[in-house]
Amino acid sequence: ELGSVGFIGLGNMGSRMANNLIKNGYKVAVHDINCNVMKMFSDMGVPTKETPFEVAEASDVVITMLPSSSHVLDVYTGPNGVLRCANLMRPQLLIDSSTIDPRTSRKVSVAVSNCILKEKKDHWEKPVMLDAPVSGGVLAAEAGTLTFMVGGSEDAYLAAKPLFLSMGKNAIYCGGAGTGSAAKICNNLAMAVSMLGVSEAFALGQSLGISAGTLTKVLNTSSARCWSSDSYNPVPGVMEGVPASRNYAGGFASKLMAKDLNLAATSVEEAGLQCPLTYQAHEIYTELCRDGHEIEDFSCVFRHYYSGKDE
Ligand code: NAD
Repeated sequence: ELGSVGFIGLGNMGSRMANNLIKNGYKVAVHDINCNVMKMFSDMGVPTKETPFEVAEASDVVITMLPSSSHVLDVYTGPNGVLRCANLMRPQLLIDSSTIDPRTSRKVSVAVSNCILKEKKDHWEKPVMLDAPVSGGVLAAEAGTLTFMVGGSEDAYLAAKPLFLSMGKNAIYCGGAGTGSAAKICNNLAMAVSMLGVSEAFALGQSLGISAGTLTKVLNTSSARCWSSDSYNPVPGVMEGVPASRNYAGGFASKLMAKDLNLAATSVEEAGLQCPLTYQAHEIYTELCRDGHEIEDFSCVFRHYYSGKDE
């Protein structure tokens, strides 16, 4: 029985995910270091807790949705962290949906597997950890249409599936601890490189005299067709409803892409692989952020990096 959920990290994504759990009938308690969001939840009648540890004590499941690895380590293993009472802890299941490096996911998973459950319930002998980052931005979090990619024990994944499907429309089991985080950074690496490739192709096409609209038609009926060309085109005015057609506002911020590419670059280095595009994509997004475009959608690379029309 996983009826009570503690949610930690109520930012752009987490607040919406927590709301969907509440809508689906889960008993939710929350924590964030930002007092304003805590107040927003307490005004809605949702119990708020002062520390991650207090959230854990009140919950069968803890879900975290935090900015990066250091915050995740702090929330789990810090002095008032979820694992404070490692020798007798309450929650059976811990799910981290933050985008972090697979190595940190594995580290937290090991720390959790060294803990002991206060009350052994059903088939739960020990608390278990899943890394379950998401694809889909704020709109998908709001609509409950996220995709979860999940690493950890398969039994725990199956037990957690109703929770995932209360916040998303897909949950894919990826393998052991850390493989959810690995899937996420690989997805975003491929997405970044395809966005850069499409942007270069449009910059070159335009300077060779082919309009963006025509080149889009060609790409989308040819072998270069991809999400960056047919669903999220980076050229202003080519598609309706995408960030490129509203001055790159909203969408997936360049600074988040830079962060994810940094995770990919670190993992590539640790794995001893040759992946030059990973490093180059990371450099390009770091430069975009340095030039002041960090909150614009990551497709702004077309205008600010390739088209020479920086504004
Ligand atoms: P956000 O910055 O809006 O929210 C993070 C929240 O965590 C904030 O409310 C912050 O106050 C809180 N927080 C930070 N440190 C804390 C601590 N020690 N204890 C308690 N709360 C703490 O970030 P977001 O956009 O919601 O993203 C969260 C994660 O999801 C990131 O890892 C991001 O890469 C990933 N992600 C984001 C998107 C997106 O489009 N925004 C899409 C997919 C994945």
